Amino acid sequence: MSIHRKGCNCNCNKKESYGSKFSTKMRSVNRMKNPLTMIQSYARSLASRGLTNKKADIPTKQLRVLSCFGDSSIGGSLGPCEHLGKSEKEPGKFYCTECGCGDKKTTWLEPKSEEYSKLDYPRLSCPAKMPGFSNYDGSDSKENVRKNIIEHYDPMKISKISVQIVDQI
Ligand code: SF4
Repeated sequence: MSIHRKGCNCNCNKKESYGSKFSTKMRSVNRMKNPLTMIQSYARSLASRGLTNKKADIPTKQLRVLSCFGDSSIGGSLGPCEHLGKSEKEPGKFYCTECGCGDKKTTWLEPKSEEYSKLDYPRLSCPAKMPGFSNYDGSDSKENVRKNIIEHYDPMKISKISVQIVDQI
């Protein structure tokens, strides 16, 4: 499935997004941020990391993983975000095809990593404004079935999602 959009310069039309049965319900995520806003978001993420490599806490990272990857890791049936793309540079890695940052080591979305990964940033924006991200917005959750499911997800189950944060490995 092509996820190419006008104005995109990241060659994402060559990438294959990770399909989801919920994808057709995600209408609001097609509103893309303008490049300046994305740059501002990236700058805020870098600033939130600071000089001491500050990181999001584990519950926040678990919620981000649920938003991006779904819940198959804990035996659930919630599929991954339609914008989750498989890396063509490194098998087994994934990245967000919608944020415009491309497929590279610093943008891989990693639940577990031996290095600081994108999901570790204390402040991190999601193009779909999903739960767990700094710009989370639930105003479209009636139309966005996947977002609605995550908003009502059992917190005990979320706590079972396996994540790692660098200095806890
Ligand atoms: S960052 Fe947001 S839009 Fe991108 S893959 Fe994750 S949930 Fe989807």
